[in-house]
Amino acid sequence: MASLRRNSCFAKRNLYFLTKGEAKPITQRVKSYARSAALYERAKNSLAGGVSSEFRKFNYPHPLFYTHGQGSRIYDVDENEYLDFTLSQGPLILGHSHPEVLDRVERASREGQLFAGQHLMEIELAEKIQAWVPCAELVRFSLSGSEADHAALRVARAVTGKPKFIRFEGHYHGWFDNVAYGVGGSLEAMGEREHPTAVPWTQGLPPNARDEFIVLPWNDLDLLKKNVAQHHAELAAIITEGVMCNNGCVEPEPGFLQGIRELCDEYNIAFILDEVITGFRLSMGGAQAYYGATPDLAIFAKAIANGYPLSVLAGTRKWMQPIADGKVIHAGTMNSGNPTIAAALATLEVLEREDVPARLFRLGNRLRKGLCEAAHVAKQNLQVQGPGPMLQVGFTNVGKVRDYRDTLSYDRPKYAMFAKEMQERGIRLIGRGLWYLSAAHTEADVDEAVAAAREVLKAMN
Ligand code: PLP
Repeated sequence: MASLRRNSCFAKRNLYFLTKGEAKPITQRVKSYARSAALYERAKNSLAGGVSSEFRKFNYPHPLFYTHGQGSRIYDVDENEYLDFTLSQGPLILGHSHPEVLDRVERASREGQLFAGQHLMEIELAEKIQAWVPCAELVRFSLSGSEADHAALRVARAVTGKPKFIRFEGHYHGWFDNVAYGVGGSLEAMGEREHPTAVPWTQGLPPNARDEFIVLPWNDLDLLKKNVAQHHAELAAIITEGVMCNNGCVEPEPGFLQGIRELCDEYNIAFILDEVITGFRLSMGGAQAYYGATPDLAIFAKAIANGYPLSVLAGTRKWMQPIADGKVIHAGTMNSGNPTIAAALATLEVLEREDVPARLFRLGNRLRKGLCEAAHVAKQNLQVQGPGPMLQVGFTNVGKVRDYRDTLSYDRPKYAMFAKEMQERGIRLIGRGLWYLSAAHTEADVDEAVAAAREVLKAMN
């Protein structure tokens, strides 16, 4: 870190890096954070912590304030331009301000915002989801992934008549009470791998929420089988992300999701697949189509409406029928507003027409290759992992990260320094290492990010 500051190159606004033997200018575009700093100070007097979501606090040098976004770029109040690999934590799969989405939203808004009744577009969207998503025989719309995860667990308890669920260390299923354990934690706090302690993520959780689940390490089918055999009489659900996106972007081991499917069939347990990140990104049918494991219930959010608040609980008839019959209550005043559903219809149409998931894989592979080469040249232990549309970048000596415990090997301060230096060069990254690609990113964008990474990694030596 100190060597970075000492390096005179970093004090200049216009920097030079070498590519294919040629010197090319790279502009250190960030001029100042002064206006953001002033707004942040003001915000802290009215917004708790100065932000509207906990995750937005973790930014260098403090939360930034933005004015607009266009395509792959976002602009802050200090007139800095950033090439955006955060996609606002995932939703902006088509990039910022996609014209087709905006047109549809504008038209729908003029027709009305919310009817507390039904409208045609809801059916059209539900039919599209049915057509693409293997488990989606019936769906319900809500606003956030957290709500839909909550509904899925309620349905599972109702159908099975059993109280508990299995969740995996390091997976994120929203911020509600009974899933706010086991999201993170140190090795000491988690304890033994075979019998992990469920580490609370926040204060204020009801003590009995801890009795609602068993937490296990991910990607260990034998351990899962052992636990299911022992506890199946009280297990309503096994809930998992399709890829452990929130920690390490770890793909399931071959057979792992299929193993969950078999266990759930054998013991009358709901297989809940949380596709909040993987949905409409790995494939139009989500992780379930991509890996070939159909769950009973699945949750979609983020990418489906390109930045508008929409989540989906989808499931097979058996599991969704209690909602259809009103035996399990799912509700929400703001559900399926006109503009939101219009945004999702427009988004899915573009995703289909342009085969966006395939494009994201191509861009992701280019990014992975570029970053790995840059790390190799700079002799840095930078590791890039993940299927492509989203990637985890971190500094670690663990060859392959398989579960949350392996992610504790990441050198987080080193990545924070890397992200800071990337941001100074106009590359906006999520601080914990997850990179998202959008349809608005071009190959030139990817190359720009790789060029910046090459320079930063070299200087970090
Ligand atoms: N599930 C997963 C896999 C997520 O990544 C998230 C959010 O990041 C959620 C659920 C919660 O979604 P929301 O933030 O829309 O409530």
